[in-house]
Amino acid sequence: MSDSIEDNTALILDGKAVAKKTQSQLRSRVEGLQTKATRPPGLAVLMVGDNPASASYVRGKERACARVGIDSYGRHFPTETREEELLQAIDDLNQDDRVDGILVQLPLPPHIDPVAAINRIHPDKDVDGLHPVNLGRLVRGEPSLRSCTPLGVMRLLQDYDIEVKGKTAVVVGRSILVGKPIALMLLEADATVTMAHSRSPDLSAITRSADILVVAVGRPELITAEMVKPGAVIMDVGINRVTDYFGKSSLTGDVDFDAVKEVARYITPVPGGVGPMTVTMLLQNTVDSYSDRLGLEG
Ligand code: NAD
Repeated sequence: MSDSIEDNTALILDGKAVAKKTQSQLRSRVEGLQTKATRPPGLAVLMVGDNPASASYVRGKERACARVGIDSYGRHFPTETREEELLQAIDDLNQDDRVDGILVQLPLPPHIDPVAAINRIHPDKDVDGLHPVNLGRLVRGEPSLRSCTPLGVMRLLQDYDIEVKGKTAVVVGRSILVGKPIALMLLEADATVTMAHSRSPDLSAITRSADILVVAVGRPELITAEMVKPGAVIMDVGINRVTDYFGKSSLTGDVDFDAVKEVARYITPVPGGVGPMTVTMLLQNTVDSYSDRLGLEG
């Protein structure tokens, strides 16, 4: 009996392992490229304020940079920093030849407009893929720097040889950061794509149609087993901090992992699924930008 239960349990897409492998490949690529260049790749992560989650993400990004041989030029500004000061720092980094990628860590304090900051980054250094020029190129299907989390989702699918072409994909969530770009990337990979969001009536009926279900909402356990088509691929982008009955805090996704893994064919865990891929794609974008800017490959 227990064998058949195990057989029906979804295969867990191990983002941590794929990220580790991809980072090691990136490290070799950087070593190779450096023999043709006079400097290593450089990434500047700008953070304003003292949001502890942001500080931990920034530290994680800088550690990952060090692992693959990317120099960090990050700056940490106090909360009261004026928008003009941040924009000036971005201008300086746009001009700095050592820097191939610039990223503004969100959220920013309320007195700074995140759109103004993102739009100030030169599109060729926009390693988060959020500048209107890069988003426009994505819409047109042209090569561009692309948003890291959706890229990470696509890479995980690719790494596990999961066919996208001809499949029905549903994306829940329509943010500029995740939902919209992932929908465009799935469309580009020849999936038939539906987007659902907070105003979609009968979410279950939509999600049950999905061969590939991507969830980027930010609501723990929004997706239950009944909302999933048997055999579906579940990509859980959500990151939610929850506190249990005993006061213990942990991270969880938007999918009821324990129940859904009994129905799905593949599923990403949280943590250890899409998250590690996001950082890895940031490193990849930085190395791509470095290579393009210095004309090092092809
Ligand atoms: P967001 O708040 O900008 O967007 C959330 C989207 O969810 C909105 O489009 C909204 O319409 C939709 N939504 C809200 N309630 C809904 C409901 N009940 N039913 C259906 N749709 C609903 O969030 P975001 O920036 O796209 O992030 C989404 C989640 O992904 C968050 O948990 C965030 O922490 C996480 N995230 C993870 C990574 C990663 O690396 N894994 C990266 C970015 C974001």
